[in-house]
Amino acid sequence: MSLREFYDVAVCGAGPAGLAAALRLKKLASGASVALIDRSSPWREPVLCAEGVHALTLRHLVGEVPPEWIRTTIDGVDFFSPDGTRVRFSRPGSGFILDRARFHRGLAERCEAAGVECDFETAVTAISAPASDGRRTLSLRSAAGEREIQARYVVDAMGAGRSSAPDKGLVTGRVDLEFAAFALVKGVEHDPRYIQLHYGREFAPGGYAWLFPRDGETANVGVVVGKEFTASRPPRECLKRLLAERWPSAAPSNPRFFGGPIPCGQERLPLGADGFFRVGDAAGMVNPLSRAGILEAMKGGNYAADALASLLVGGETDFDRASKRCLDAWWTDKGRGHEQLMRAKPAFGSVSDRVFDKAAHALARLPEEKCTLSRIFLETLVASPSLLWKMRSLLK
Ligand SMILES: Cc1cc2nc3c(=O)[nH]c(=O)nc-3n(C[C@H](O)[C@H](O)[C@H](O)COP(=O)(O)OP(=O)(O)OC[C@H]3O[C@@H](n4cnc5c(N)ncnc54)[C@H](O)[C@@H]3O)c2cc1C
Repeated sequence: MSLREFYDVAVCGAGPAGLAAALRLKKLASGASVALIDRSSPWREPVLCAEGVHALTLRHLVGEVPPEWIRTTIDGVDFFSPDGTRVRFSRPGSGFILDRARFHRGLAERCEAAGVECDFETAVTAISAPASDGRRTLSLRSAAGEREIQARYVVDAMGAGRSSAPDKGLVTGRVDLEFAAFALVKGVEHDPRYIQLHYGREFAPGGYAWLFPRDGETANVGVVVGKEFTASRPPRECLKRLLAERWPSAAPSNPRFFGGPIPCGQERLPLGADGFFRVGDAAGMVNPLSRAGILEAMKGGNYAADALASLLVGGETDFDRASKRCLDAWWTDKGRGHEQLMRAKPAFGSVSDRVFDKAAHALARLPEEKCTLSRIFLETLVASPSLLWKMRSLLK
């Protein structure tokens, strides 16, 4: 779609954060003009992600989930300690592996049906400071050339650390930026109803390795490494070692690797100022331990949309007050918990392979129904009492 000269709101980036923000804005303020701009078509494959989400939260956010958005339903997690001991945590139907390309396309279609003006394959190259009338100018580049549009409010949902707007002391999405690598592999024997999480210094120092099922045949196998190890232990090298040692039968023998950054640091800074909001990965809304960010990004987009709707149609006249409400809502829902996890992360990252193995051996002896997440956490603490002291930030 060719864009107009001016919009009430320009949402930059059509990942989960931008799609959710644009859709909710149109629901709450149907008369407002909303543009949604992305440098690619947001359903272009491959989406750099393992695509795992919590089923109930997704339903809460989008209503009934169309079957075509789901690759498979997940019944739990198999944790593997460094020596390969498996601990199964069962929760039937608790997760989905999404087909993010279809998920993005479905949400983009809902946006268009609601009246959002979508312009894909168009990059936002700059966002100006606000002029005296509050409007910002967005510089855009597409195959058709360069142009500018203006907007009263702007939402930056362009992913990790990409923003080109003047900062003004906002969240940056650049704190604790970790890197992840993954490959889509065949020939790996796995239970298609369980995601696998593998811990250990060998494969994933300061992070974890994963196997997420896709269609029973292909699996998404990846590694995220703690930031402090990225230079000495690049995720791609860790992934090659993981594949060679845990699944030597994986085909093709030389898979294509993909990767991307994950902003894992929760900053206690405003999400918006001067008519400008940052949400999703652009605002570092990822869970610092699980590194999940899809639903977190959607929630962030929703909270920004609520604040903007209050300014556009709710009689709110003070942007800072609306922005503070957005931050409070995010902080109550997720931000505070993320901050606690962030403080506990160094301690969790320092757990030795011996401790993980010891805890896993104890847990593996339990009947499956007694293997709750809190029991898994407790056994890890019992295996390393000094960890309890290091984890005290969780109790604050
Ligand atoms: C390897 C890997 C695996 C992951 N696995 C999971 C998982 O299993 N579960 C989970 O919950 N999370 C996972 N995540 C995290 C999750 O992918 C992100 O947190 C989530 O995508 C954030 O959504 P977002 O909308 O903020 O940003 P993005 O999804 O990054 O979307 C940003 C959008 O902005 C567009 N854009 C960028 N720059 C511009 C520009 N200049 N102009 C216009 N458009 C632009 C991009 O094209 C993109 O469509 C994973 C991340 C990685 C890297």
